Order: sequence, then structure tokens, then C-alpha cells
Amino acid sequence: MKAISRIALIAALALCAFAMQAQQVSPFHVLAFYGTEVEADHVAFAKQAILFFQALALKDKFDFETTTSFNDLNAEKLSHYQLILWLDDIPSDPAQRAAFQQYAEHGGAWLGFHIAGYNDDGTHWPWFVQFLGGSIFLTNSWPPLPANLAVENKRSPVTRSLPGSFLSPANEWYIWKPDPRENKDVQVLVSLKASNYPLGWKDTLVGGDLPVVWTNTRYHMLYINMGHGDKIFTSAIQNRLFENALLWFRSGRPKQLP
Ligand code: ZN
Repeated sequence: MKAISRIALIAALALCAFAMQAQQVSPFHVLAFYGTEVEADHVAFAKQAILFFQALALKDKFDFETTTSFNDLNAEKLSHYQLILWLDDIPSDPAQRAAFQQYAEHGGAWLGFHIAGYNDDGTHWPWFVQFLGGSIFLTNSWPPLPANLAVENKRSPVTRSLPGSFLSPANEWYIWKPDPRENKDVQVLVSLKASNYPLGWKDTLVGGDLPVVWTNTRYHMLYINMGHGDKIFTSAIQNRLFENALLWFRSGRPKQLP
């Protein structure tokens, strides 16, 4: 082989290796929305969540940004992110909601905590209700209390490394009607164990199926009910669930959830 063609070959190989490496470390951009004018316990959760995900971003090598403005829920801004988080806040403006619908219907991923899934007669966003799996907020427990949770689907990357049950730190628990489990497209991953009932003493949940983590497989989404107050990140097991969720989205294969 002539020297010049050997150099050309080495250069081509180097270029190829660089291209492969670039493909392997394709950046994963996450944008978290949160509010500072919402309920104090929800602000407390959001601030702790931001610290948690900032640390994860360094550990698991993804890009993590935050915003307190739902005006960032627009097509141009969303085009830069593969996953958006709603940390205890929801958009109410029709244009912001429309931008989110476009994003979600074109493969954009969403991870919502606690009140991010809230909807009732007053929220007037039917598309979001079906996005969540058709469930409407019914009522909640009060005060925030820990609860034993059952991990139902260990085949999912979100729950695979978790024990069969664990004690989730103090939270305000929501119950939904209809039960998200009634939707054939919904996969419930974690639910409240019946042994917790009655739960709460000011607002008491007395019984019924209460999924707390689920995905509507028609979208790249995961809803997590945890998210009230400053105790949420005090469980190593629950923190692993949150990290798993992030990594599941980063894997780019949410549709493969069994
Ligand atoms: Zn709450």
C-alpha cells in the first residue's frame, strides 16, 4: 500500500470511529418546569427535585435545565429537549397546552410528578385527561403520610431493580376516577397497598385501587404521584425509582416497556 493511501485509510477509520462515538454519546436534554407561586409544599418538593436531578445529570451524563415560565412550553423551545419534567405545576394557557400536545404526539417524553397530573371539572383540558389515561382526580389524603407501596410490574426498566414493596416517605396521595388501570393502554407500575387504609385523618382515604406510578403506552410518558413536601427524596429505594425513570427515557426506547 502506498503511503498516501495508507494515510487516507487511517484518516477514514479515525473519522468513522469519531462518528460512532458521537452516535453513542448523543446528548439527552431535559427541561424541568416548576412554579414558585404555588403551594409551599409543592415549591419545597420542586426545589429538592431540582437538586436531585442536577446531581443525577452529572452522574448519568445528561443535560438538565429548569424554568419557572410555562411560556417556555412552545414548539421552538421544546424542539431542543427529549424529555420535559413537570415538578408540581401545570400549564393553563391554551397556546402552551397546544404546544405540549404537539410535542407529546410527536414522540416528546414527559415525566410528571404529583399535581402535574391534576385535572378536574375546572381544568378544562380533555386532551390531557386522555393523555394521563382517562383518569380524573377524585380526592386526596391529608395530612401527608408515609405509605407502603407495591411494585407491580418488575419487567419494566423503571421498576426492575426495586423490591416487591417499599415504604414511601410522607406524601399527599391522590385517588382517581375512573381508575387508570381500567384503560387497556395504561400500565400500572406501582400502587398503594390496601394495608394502608384508612389513610389520613383530616381527609381520609378508606379504600380502593390507588395506582401511584403508571404510563399510558400511547405516549412516552410516566406519571408519579409522589411530590408533596420535603421528605420525598429521603428513601434510597424511591430515589432509585426516579433515577430508573430518567434512564428509561434516556434509553430512547420507552415504547418497549412490557
Ligand atoms: Zn400536594
